[in-house]
This record gives sequence, structure tokens and C-alpha cells, in this order.
Amino acid sequence: MGRVFIFLSVFLLGTYSLEANCITKVGALSDAKIAESRTIAIIGAAGSLKGTVARLIKEKITVIPFSVGEALRLEVNRGSEAGLKAKPFMETHRNSPNEVVAEVVQSFLKSVPNDVALLLDGAPRNQSQLNQLRADLAKINRKIDIVFELGIDLETSKDRINGRLLCPKCQTTFHTRYFVPKVLDTCDHCESKLTKRSDDSVEGAEKRWKVYQDETIPALDQLRTEGIVYSLDGNQPARVLVSRILDILQLKR
Ligand SMILES: [Zn+2]
Repeated sequence: MGRVFIFLSVFLLGTYSLEANCITKVGALSDAKIAESRTIAIIGAAGSLKGTVARLIKEKITVIPFSVGEALRLEVNRGSEAGLKAKPFMETHRNSPNEVVAEVVQSFLKSVPNDVALLLDGAPRNQSQLNQLRADLAKINRKIDIVFELGIDLETSKDRINGRLLCPKCQTTFHTRYFVPKVLDTCDHCESKLTKRSDDSVEGAEKRWKVYQDETIPALDQLRTEGIVYSLDGNQPARVLVSRILDILQLKR
């Protein structure tokens, strides 16, 4: 039975890889690894729909999502010590200092029940954050089990970021063309007035693209060598990405 399952899984994964070239399986991912997917990370450049994908996945499976960017923005809005440290970096399209990121991640991990899957959106963003995250997860008997890389091109990044609108209250992201709110400039969920993030501009997108290539890709490459990274074509709509991610996760359950 086990053998049949493994064969079927490998066969189906093979099909995904061939189908429309949407998923490229990088490295070998064993059945056991996916079955234990308690800690899932979604990594992609700005505008790769990480947040939207994480939110849609949460609607489908039991998982606790955590967005580092969102957590940092909340700290900035609160004017906390961590927020004050992160603010100048966020305003100039740079990654926030690793120790500030570690602080918000550690404070989140403290609140996490042991038996629920975690969905980390936008972490780690560089090699040092990867090392720190591993150490913090190890303290609560977790590890990064599977990573979904949402690969996009620069044009998609600029296009998606430039039209993005954010609800300052519930942090839902909308878009002037792709994810239009029902009422103009108003959040569908909490009716707050939507705003534009200060770094959501074409210039901001270009700067963040460079930081992603220089800092995040090397961390991703290291994860790739461990065979836990699935690369998806992030230029596709969010619902397509979500369905593929769920297929991969559920295949091994
Ligand atoms: Zn809202």
C-alpha cells in the first residue's frame, strides 16, 4: 500500500511538472517530508501575491498564517520600538534589520500551538534571517518543512505593486484592476478607507526587486539544495497558485 502511494505521488508530481510548466519540482522531496508539512513558507518578490495566496489558503485548510511585512507595518503604525527601527528601512524599500524581524517572528512563534500548521508569508528574506528562523523554529520543535517560491518577472512586480491598495485596519490587499473592491476605495471586509502603501510605487518595486535578487534568492538557493522548494509560476492568478499549492500539500496527506 505504501509503495502504491509513493508511486502514485511521484507519478502525479511528475504530471504537475509537465503540465503547462507551471510547477518545476526542484530537488527531491520525500513523501515523509510533505506529510510532516507543519511549517510552510511562501517566498516571492514584491507583487508575487504572497499575502493573497496565504489568505486564500487559510480559507481552505487549518493553518496559522504569519506575514512578517504585515507584522512590521503594524509595529510601525503602533509606533512601537520595533516599528520605529523598521520604519526608515521600509520607507526606503530596504529589508528591515534582521534583529527587528527576529523580534516580531519570535513574538509570533511564542503564541503558536504545537499541533497546527504555520504558513510563513515573506520569510526568510535573506541568509541571516534563514539561520535565525531555523534556530527559533528548532526551539519549538519545528523546522521549515516545505517552501513555495512564487516566481514573477520584474514587469509583473511593477504592474501589481503600482495598483495595490491596502486596508490599514484588517490588512487586506486590493488592486485597482485585479482585485477591485466592491465599493470604490473601501475595504470589502471592514469598510475602512483603503490606502496605498508608501513603498508601493514603480520606483519602490524596482528597488525591492534588486534587494530580492541580491538577498532573498541566495537564501532560497540554500533551501533548494535541501529539496524542499517548489517553484511556481507566480505570474498566474492567485486562485491558480492556491489550487496548485493545495494539490501539492494534499497529495501526501
Ligand atoms: Zn479591512
